[in-house]
Amino acid sequence: MLHLQNYLNGQLVPPAAGRYLPNLEPATGEVFSYLPDSDAEDVARATAAAEAALPAWRRLPAEDRGRLLVRISELIERDLERLAQAESQDNGKPVSLARTVDIPRAASNFAFFGTAAQHFASETHFQEGVALNYTVRHPLGVVGCISPWNLPLYLFTWKIAPALAAGCTVVAKPSEITPYTAFLLSELCIEVGLPAGVLNIVHGTGPGAGQPIIEHPGIKGISFTGGTKTGEQIARTAAPMFKKLSLELGGKNPNIVFADCDLAETVRTSLRSSFANQGQICLCGSRIFIERSIYEQFKTDFLAGVADLTVADPQLETSRQGALVSEAHLQKVLCYIALAHAEGGTLLAGGQRVMLDGRCTNGYFLQPTVFEGLAPDCRVNREEIFGPVVTLTPFDTEEEVLTWANGTDYGLAATIWTRDLNRAHRVAHQLHSGIVWINTWLHRDLRTPFGGMKNSGVGREGGLEALRFFTEAQSITVKL
Ligand code: NAD
Repeated sequence: MLHLQNYLNGQLVPPAAGRYLPNLEPATGEVFSYLPDSDAEDVARATAAAEAALPAWRRLPAEDRGRLLVRISELIERDLERLAQAESQDNGKPVSLARTVDIPRAASNFAFFGTAAQHFASETHFQEGVALNYTVRHPLGVVGCISPWNLPLYLFTWKIAPALAAGCTVVAKPSEITPYTAFLLSELCIEVGLPAGVLNIVHGTGPGAGQPIIEHPGIKGISFTGGTKTGEQIARTAAPMFKKLSLELGGKNPNIVFADCDLAETVRTSLRSSFANQGQICLCGSRIFIERSIYEQFKTDFLAGVADLTVADPQLETSRQGALVSEAHLQKVLCYIALAHAEGGTLLAGGQRVMLDGRCTNGYFLQPTVFEGLAPDCRVNREEIFGPVVTLTPFDTEEEVLTWANGTDYGLAATIWTRDLNRAHRVAHQLHSGIVWINTWLHRDLRTPFGGMKNSGVGREGGLEALRFFTEAQSITVKL
């Protein structure tokens, strides 16, 4: 059976202690590969390789670093089908989603940052007749990049590409639940001829391999995406070491539907923003607030759409809902469904585990689930479920819906549906969300700042924000 390897100092190597963990396919519940169960020794070796590679990599002109990144992007595009199949097998997502979203976006991450570094200019502040001040942005050094399981290659490359473009060298850890495409990426880096030690990929668990990355004194900055609890733990460890931190954490996003929206488009996109990737996207809008005058119409149309979301083997082109990522995660989501009943919700659709036939008999499938009648401040409406479960709530006024939308500890993303442009801007400015979409969802422009407010994180990724994160500003003043 396939044994994934770490990518250290330009080579694929087994973990120092020789231990491996089973890697399961969520659609079948069966082990299909093994991943290194790396520890502090592997992280120490990876960091030593990254430190050794740093001087030459940071000296390389941005164009030359960028050329290698663009070449990686081209190889991801060349291998799109293979990577999409691997992502689907490892994560449980429909292969059609991996083919159209995850893998193309991973390729564009490398293409974008490969060229962005050439457009990254530093500032000059001229004081007439007195002084010339200019800023130099030095690469931060060796950085740690840690990513979650929901969009495995997409989020892994979203961190690695800007770090490398900025001239940093990297020790990266993908989620132990979805390590496969990160391993395939290491093969592509070898094919491209990325200099040894510039990127090092260490596989393993959070406590085993992640925590040593946070603790290692040679690692100067951490870019982390994952749960809010893990983010807290990382901040606790890294803050006293004065490491630069970017934390992209959980969300509980509102989807606000005003009566003057384009209803057909709102329903179509809300089905995606509720259930894409089985609801396991940090940006999914799991709390849908609908203006009362169109509540019944929205509900009818939305439920008709939910009935068409075929839960099936993610390898099938007809599959609209694949498997949840693990048995443990499925059980967590089922607990929230039980809680929604206990908190007085009315089940409108789904609510049950799905048992499929054939190779998927033991897979982790769940019906797309819709509740109504829950108080806006109940636990189901405040805590992140991260699965295919949404609530519908009618509202009467803008003030009311703003209070409810902002009434959680999270502040990642929000969506507003209305044809009234003044209202759209007014509401957007009052939402405590790092990202607001108006009449769209998951629209992506890599130049925009990406990240959350409140417990959804600290710092912003994307565009020049990411390049600023991975560099240290130095101000130089020349007296005239
Ligand atoms: P998680 O926090 O359990 O794990 C994320 C990563 O951190 C994994 O690689 C894990 O091994 C590692 N890790 C765990 N403990 C660690 C430690 N002590 N030190 C260092 N690393 C450690 O999250 P998950 O379950 O993989 O992902 C789901 C969460 O991610 C959800 O809360 C979701 O909202 C969030 N998420 C946020 C964004 C965003 O951009 N804000 C994007 C995707 C997912």
